[in-house]
Parts: sequence; structure tokens; C-alpha cells
Amino acid sequence: LSERLSGVFDRLTKQGALSDEDVKTALREVRVALLEADVSLPVARDFVNAVQEKATGQAVTKSITPGQQVVKIVHDALIDVLKGEGEPGALKIDNAPAPILMVGLQGSGKTTTTAKLAKRLKDRDGKRVLMASLDVNRPAAMEQLAILGMQIGVDTLPIVKGETPVQIAKRTKTQASLGGYDVYMLDTAGRLSIDEELMAQVEQVRDIVSPRETLLVVDGLTGQDAVQTAENFNTRIGISGVVLTRMDGDGRGGAALSMRAVTGKPIKFVGLGEKMDALETFEPERVAGRILGMGDIVALVEKAQETIEAEQAERMMKRMAKGMFNMNDLKMQLEQMLKMGGMQGMMGMMPGMGKMAKQISDAGLDDKILKQQIALINSMTKKERANPALLQASRKKRIAKGAGMEVSDVNKLMKMQRQMSDMMKKMGKGKGGMMKAAMKQ
Ligand code: GDP
Ligand code: MG
Repeated sequence: LSERLSGVFDRLTKQGALSDEDVKTALREVRVALLEADVSLPVARDFVNAVQEKATGQAVTKSITPGQQVVKIVHDALIDVLKGEGEPGALKIDNAPAPILMVGLQGSGKTTTTAKLAKRLKDRDGKRVLMASLDVNRPAAMEQLAILGMQIGVDTLPIVKGETPVQIAKRTKTQASLGGYDVYMLDTAGRLSIDEELMAQVEQVRDIVSPRETLLVVDGLTGQDAVQTAENFNTRIGISGVVLTRMDGDGRGGAALSMRAVTGKPIKFVGLGEKMDALETFEPERVAGRILGMGDIVALVEKAQETIEAEQAERMMKRMAKGMFNMNDLKMQLEQMLKMGGMQGMMGMMPGMGKMAKQISDAGLDDKILKQQIALINSMTKKERANPALLQASRKKRIAKGAGMEVSDVNKLMKMQRQMSDMMKKMGKGKGGMMKAAMKQ
């Protein structure tokens, strides 16, 4: 009986694995989608190759086609790449006055973004901000910042005619200290394309103020060119993050992926319009959906996966209520734990368990162990999983070897399964059994 049940399990979880051909076919379309979204060619190629390796052999969810499954895998990988580390939208601006240097090409939205960000820091974080324009070549640009400053109620450094950018930067630094500002923002001059003079100027300014953040402002509508710009600024000046502007437009925002791939720096904000409050924290999920443009398929796969999970959980509850708990059940439990951030994550969520979570992580009992245990179960045959009593010495040896571990590890796993099974039997017994009670809910 348990053999048959485990067969049902397998059919439920997968209708097969993704073949090389499935993956290749689906990825051809994904590649086109990425290029249409203005992701740079080499970045799109590398990304697709990385996904290809990852996707081949993965299980296909019931009621989903292999192609749809690949799209979902791509979507998740895209989010991973876009995400980067740290809190989105976070800025290092402790230790007042903290300098923020804004760099980028002319017309990318630097001045607008400087003002938007100043407003955000003032309104959300209660910071006192001082802004200054270093764009001495275009007097109108300095005026522009001063006007925006008045609109949003943020101070700008008084304009002194004839000063060099370096002189303005020094004066801003001094004024920020004397005036008790928390943050000062330097809006640098841009050029239509990168040139030596611009870079040298920005470098000088950087060395004078030692910025806490150097934000590269990039027009989200420029696709292929954005890569070159980012590469140049990052190697020459060293940026700490990216702001993508004009994400309110029709563009699909492929520049986001290119920026991440080329600089490795986080995308911190996106500009969503000309208004002063049109600046938002970068959301990888949203941008991933837009770049791929296959939101319907992703939603479909997610729904199917949820349904399967619910069915699995119900089946497992039924089995447990009958006191059945074999290696397939254990594997599902372990996978569930892994998904919830390992034992540490699970404990951390339970009140009063925080300390135990720390002990677990200190002892190294984290994801790695869970993955090893799952690997052991994976190297068992179907029969063995369904009926762990079959596991005699020679089988244990084979399983340990298959998972690159020791027989003692197999023994530990078996002990765990036996304990769980005993517990299930106890709980399942009698009308007042815990599992039965839980099922009635
Ligand atoms: P700068 O030369 O880099 O300083 O660019 P500006 O800040 O002067 O911006 C150039 C133009 O782009 C202005 O008309 C801005 O209003 C506009 N702009 C800036 N950011 C955005 C944005 O996120 N969305 C839209 N639609 N327009 C923007
Ligand atoms: Mg400007």
C-alpha cells in the first residue's frame, strides 16, 4: 500500500524533468524577450546560459508545460540577480554631514533625482539636507536646482559666480558642517557622452568630500549604451548604487539587469515621473515582471505550484493521521523547512525560540544539514523510501556513497524517520489524536 501511495506522490510532484531540449526551446523566447526589453546583448547571453544550466533536470509541476516551467525559473533567477544584497533603498548616511555624490550623463535625470532624493530624506527620515550644483558650464542648471530646492523646502548652496566645481564642493562641505546639516548632496555636471575632462573633475570632487554614497543616475530607457556608461563610471569613480530614471515610460527597463550584471552594485531607486515625489525604492519583483513581460505565465505556474503544495500537505496530513511516515514524508518535511529558511528561520519565527535558533546556527545545523539529509533520501530507491525497513548494511553503504556521506549519517537520518513515525503513530491513535483534530479544522 505504501508503495502505491509513494507512486501517487511522485506523480503529484512531477510529470517529469526538464530536458535539455525543453529548456533550450523556451530560453530562445526568453532571450528575445530580454533583448526587446533592452537588456544588453552580452548580459542577456550570460544570463540565459546561467539559467540553462540551472533549469535542465528540474522537475515540471503537474498541469504546467515545460516551457511555462522554464519561464518561471527565469523569472525567479531574474529577481535573484536584480536583488543584490542589503535593504533596497537604504543609504549610508549616518555620521553627519554625510556627502552624497550624484553622477551620470547629461539629461539622465541627475538634477531632478537629487531634488527628489533630498525631499525623500527630509520627509521620510527627517534629515536636514543641503544641495549644491557643480554644473558650472550651464548656469541654468544651477538655477534649476535652486528652484527645485525652493519648491521642496530644501536648502541649496548660494550660487557664487566664477567658482570651479572643486571650489563649490569645498564650500558645500564647510557649509554642511557649520550649518548642522545631516546630509549634503552634490549634483555634478554631465556630458552627452563620457569624456576625460568630466571624469577627472568628478574624481577631484570625490577625493575632496569622500562621499558616503556615489549614485549613478541612468536613464532607464537607454538600453545598450547604459552598460558602457555604468562600466566607465564604476571603474573610474567607484559607484555605490544606481538610480534608474524614466521607469514611468514605455520602456521595459532591461537596463536594470544590465546595470546589475555590469557593476554588481545595487539599484537603489527608480524615478517614475517628473514630479518631486516620483521616486520609489527599487522593487526587483516588479521590474523582473516587466523585463520578462510574461507575467501571465509566471502567475499560472505559481498558482499550479500552490495547488500541488496544498494537495501534498493534505495527503501528508492524512498519512500522518494514520501513523504513516516514511522517507518520502521526511523528505517533504525537510524541503518545507529549507523553504522556510531552514531550522533557524522556523525557530526564529516562533516566539521565545530566538535563542535556540542562534544555538542551531552556531552549531552549524543549518541549511547545509537539511540539504545533506535530502541528498541522502534522494540516493535511496523508491522502494527504500517507501519502506525504510529495507535499509540493511549494504544498502546504507550505497546510499551514503551516493550522497557523498557516511553510513553513520544514514543511521542518523533513519533514527529521525523512526522517531517521527513513532510520534505520528502516537498522535494518530484514538479519537482525540492531535492529527485528527488538526484535520477537522
Ligand atoms: P540632468 O541633466 O541629468 O540633470 O537631468 P535633469 O534632472 O535635468 O532631467 C532631464 C529631464 O528628464 C527633465 O525634464 C526631467 O523632468 C526629466 N526626468 C527626470 N527624471 C525623470 C523620470 O523619472 N521620469 C520622467 N518621465 N522624466 C524624468
Ligand atoms: Mg543637471
